[in-house]
Amino acid sequence: MKEALTGTQLQAVLNQALAYTDKGKVAAYIPELAKEDPGQLGVSVCFPDGTMLSAGNVDVRFTLQSISKIFSLIIALCQNGQKHVFERVGKEPTGDPFNSIIKLETIKSHKPLNPMINAGAIAVAGMIQGENIDDRLNRVLDMLRKMTGNPAICVNEAVYCSEKSTADRNRALAWFLKDSGILTTDVEETLDLYFRYCSIEVSVKDIAHMGMVLAADGIDVQTGERFFPEEVARICKTFMVTCGMYNASGEFAIDVGIPAKSGVAGGIMACVPHRMGIGVFGPSLDEKGNSVAGIKLLALLSKEWKLGIF
Ligand code: GLU
Repeated sequence: MKEALTGTQLQAVLNQALAYTDKGKVAAYIPELAKEDPGQLGVSVCFPDGTMLSAGNVDVRFTLQSISKIFSLIIALCQNGQKHVFERVGKEPTGDPFNSIIKLETIKSHKPLNPMINAGAIAVAGMIQGENIDDRLNRVLDMLRKMTGNPAICVNEAVYCSEKSTADRNRALAWFLKDSGILTTDVEETLDLYFRYCSIEVSVKDIAHMGMVLAADGIDVQTGERFFPEEVARICKTFMVTCGMYNASGEFAIDVGIPAKSGVAGGIMACVPHRMGIGVFGPSLDEKGNSVAGIKLLALLSKEWKLGIF
């Protein structure tokens, strides 16, 4: 077994991956995200004993985007149970881009294929219960604040407004879901909640903590506090493997082999069961929407420290 990872080694891996930041492009379809400097790269690794190693742009704040789909799914499963959730959203990878509409029409049930694509996550947002939209947002925010020990986590209003004013594709998905009876809540309100989940602002340290909780099957190893059931953690980690890296999930499973979820702001949350949570931020994306340098960094780490689960 290779010796434990050190900060110097993590910095060396980051330096190697930095060369890939100019291989992609920042997401521009949400205008606020287009302002990011594509040359940034940061990583944090959180271990079960609570220690953390970090390198690169570790204090930059960015929005969760699709990484939030894991946490809205957790709340939806806890509130409604598996039967209710999976009657409305499937468990299969799509092979299509994250915002694709095509299978909503061609599949007989009209059910989104999984909760990691936009259509599935919008359906999941419709399942989150609460007294009003703020309460429904806070179900996710409160859990994230507790999981990370960071009470300052909140929504980035500029990104939220930017997405809300340009989200015609997501509106089309939501109205389609409403028409087929999958979405039964108010469409604009559900979208509003979905945009706010996507606009929750974090750092790589925060998502490394979140990854560690998933790696520990839903608990904070330090305090023993349970945030969600082990079964829910198992479902989420399985989705991370099969659908977490968009329609590049198969390739990522072979090349890196770690459960991970990416977002179009450039974040990747990864978890190595019982060993570590990893947070990466690199806003320069490949054509599938994944951080180019972030994937490279995770591939190097996985290979050198034998982190792959297969
Ligand atoms: N808010 C983004 C959208 O709905 C999330 C996409 C992503 O990160 O994959 O398009």
